[in-house]
Amino acid sequence: MPDYGHPLRFGSFITPTSAPASRPGDLALLSEELGLDLVTFQDHPYQATFLDTWTLLTWVASRTERIHLAGNVLSLPLRQPAVLARAAASLDLLSNGRLSLGLGSGAFWDGIAAMGGRRLSPGQAVAALSEGIDVIRGVLDVSQTRPLRIDGEYYQVNGVKRGPAPTHTIPIWIGAYKPKMLRLTAQKGDGWLPSISYLQPGDLARGNTIIDEAAREAGRDPAEIVRLLNVSPNENAEDLVRLALDEGISTFIMPGDDPRVLRRFAQEIAPAVREQVEADRSRRGVVSRTRIRTAAQLARRVPNIDYDNLPASLVDRAVEPSDPAYARYLSGYMRGGAPGLVLRPQTIEEVQEAVTYATAHREVPLGIFSAGHGLSGRSLNHGGLVIDVSSLNSIEMVDASTGRVRIGPGARWVEVARELAPHELAITSGDYGGVGVGGLATAGGVGWFAREHGLTLDHLRSVDVVLADGTLKHASETENPDLFWAMRGAGANFGVGVSFEFEAKPVGKVAFAQFAFDVPDLVAFLESWGTAIESADRSVTGQVILGPPRGGKQYAQAMILVDSADPDTIIERLQPIADIAPLIDQSVALAGYDEIMAAFVSDEPQQGQGEPLAHSGLIEHLTSGFAKEIAAMLEAGASYFFQIRAVGGAVADVPSDATAYGWRDANFSVLAMGSARSGLDDYWKRVLPHLEGLYLSFETEVGEAALGRAFPPATLARLRELKREYDPTGLFRDNFFINPADVTVTQ
Ligand SMILES: Cc1cc2nc3c(=O)[nH]c(=O)nc-3n(C[C@H](O)[C@H](O)[C@H](O)COP(=O)(O)OP(=O)(O)OC[C@H]3O[C@@H](n4cnc5c(N)ncnc54)[C@H](O)[C@@H]3O)c2cc1C
Repeated sequence: MPDYGHPLRFGSFITPTSAPASRPGDLALLSEELGLDLVTFQDHPYQATFLDTWTLLTWVASRTERIHLAGNVLSLPLRQPAVLARAAASLDLLSNGRLSLGLGSGAFWDGIAAMGGRRLSPGQAVAALSEGIDVIRGVLDVSQTRPLRIDGEYYQVNGVKRGPAPTHTIPIWIGAYKPKMLRLTAQKGDGWLPSISYLQPGDLARGNTIIDEAAREAGRDPAEIVRLLNVSPNENAEDLVRLALDEGISTFIMPGDDPRVLRRFAQEIAPAVREQVEADRSRRGVVSRTRIRTAAQLARRVPNIDYDNLPASLVDRAVEPSDPAYARYLSGYMRGGAPGLVLRPQTIEEVQEAVTYATAHREVPLGIFSAGHGLSGRSLNHGGLVIDVSSLNSIEMVDASTGRVRIGPGARWVEVARELAPHELAITSGDYGGVGVGGLATAGGVGWFAREHGLTLDHLRSVDVVLADGTLKHASETENPDLFWAMRGAGANFGVGVSFEFEAKPVGKVAFAQFAFDVPDLVAFLESWGTAIESADRSVTGQVILGPPRGGKQYAQAMILVDSADPDTIIERLQPIADIAPLIDQSVALAGYDEIMAAFVSDEPQQGQGEPLAHSGLIEHLTSGFAKEIAAMLEAGASYFFQIRAVGGAVADVPSDATAYGWRDANFSVLAMGSARSGLDDYWKRVLPHLEGLYLSFETEVGEAALGRAFPPATLARLRELKREYDPTGLFRDNFFINPADVTVTQ
């Protein structure tokens, strides 16, 4: 007798009545409140008194957080498949991966024909559904780059672009009764969804046999097809247990129009069924299969990852190489990747479970991914695990009067700036709005207010961290102060930051200047830039960007923030900088910090490929010796992007041993990006003696020498000790790994 070992799910089946229009939605909210797993709606678009099912699903998705959604079942003859595929991907994205597609081949043909749909015979309707599924799957298959063409008898698509990629593989459940439909379900479906009221005794067993045989013929494991059933209020717990154990039904959907029926189902029947089925399964040693995959999907898994024993809370949103959402993890902003498995926790508890799962996989790489802008941080990897915490992206104003704000690691700085702007507050971040809180706040944060406000991490008041053993620790000056010290500069080595509490500062309109310089003498220019910035008022923070000379001429582009809205003050503070070389272009605008952040962000998908090459340096003064080496490097074309940012000022007010970001007396942070190691590395070797250390976020070199430059000796010695305490197996190692096994104490 079949028990396919699928997880048990319980759902509601609601009539989309418009009398009153609030009723179906209220029943859906009740379904979530009662802890049901799924809410479904009938779909009869020709029924004048019904709300449109898709609109209702969308409304429910936006009002709920957890419950899964489906049409039960959607009338495909009235829902154009290519459009339905896009709608499904959209709703899946908007609902965070909670959509399933229940599909039917059509019934009530008079109604369908009245709506302009084509009247089909039963055989034609099955063939049309088969083509429709191909169209839907094809549009959703973003792993294919070529536009989709299907020249079917019932549906034709002629070069339709694929996408958007849904959050998860959207299962297709088919409402089938007759052998042809059952065989189609076996060949192309992910689930069989009949209603008990249309079944005769023996139909479930007969249906299962047809599906199982046809699945095997199609080279599929019968367990790839989940068995769902619309039950009736007459069935009690014993009936459902029998249906689960004897007929393989794992998802039970109860009519949900009567709240009393729903309550009884959720509060009495479902728990009893769960308990009895689980007890029976454990007696028989049946392993509960959390997620069923096809042979082709299984073939894309990588070795050494225990895909079948994921924590239950993470299964639905986990991303394997064969999933549509996987395309997101082939590229970060700066580098490419091809992880073996991506876990996407949505709560702190789920992060804890993900980390615990990762500890059992110490031998494969582990990346912690917040917003994907890592240079030094390998948040993506090849064949390893990635814990993507981008869903933890809340921004919560704790107390506007003190500037206290609590932020999740997945929030991007542009969003933080936008949330704080109405309160006339800001947290100095980096210069790029798309960068994530998780990566930047744990390493440094050198941005537009660096000289006036210091680093981003100087504004951190506490952080909640999931440690390597899966425990959650709160770290602040008073609680776990060692961990708090380490998280501010070397955070990626100590755990996953899951909640950051900052103290934002009052900020009004500021001036943002952009200068383009003609640079006849680069060495003189760099020395003058250094002097001008160092002697500027602290309200001035600027950066200059240089590339190789073009047509024999050197140009420089500078961006400078002046924290003032008074035109005379702005001009007075900018003038000494404007004077250092001939200006070929200039602009100054008054703007909010949120507007500046919004100017430096892209909402295009990240497209990094391969490995970036970047070297970083922290330096106290831009000396002529340093400037000469930079001039030689640029002259040779060894770096295509060279940037000098201002630090110093408030950054240097903080004692060097107060946080793990230790090189406080540097006035400048420099970054050179190159495309060929041979070119850039040769020149960089000559720059190194002029540097004090490096800012790890801008360095792609790994190993002991780079580690020694990232942290002053005493800082590194203390970090090594703490690493042994907090992460003795070296689980967190994707970003300037401090190996706990290495006993060298550099002092
Ligand atoms: C275009 C661009 C502009 C930049 N501008 C600036 C700038 O102006 N100032 C500046 O200081 N930096 C800047 N950076 C560097 C940036 O701060 C780092 O690359 C940062 O790590 C990116 O964070 P992320 O969350 O976006 O990246 P991810 O790739 O998601 O993460 C990078 C690394 O950070 C660590 N990490 C991520 N999340 C967490 C977490 N929750 N807990 C613990 N560790 C975590 C991991 O080691 C991970 O590998 C810039 C980078 C880019 C690509």
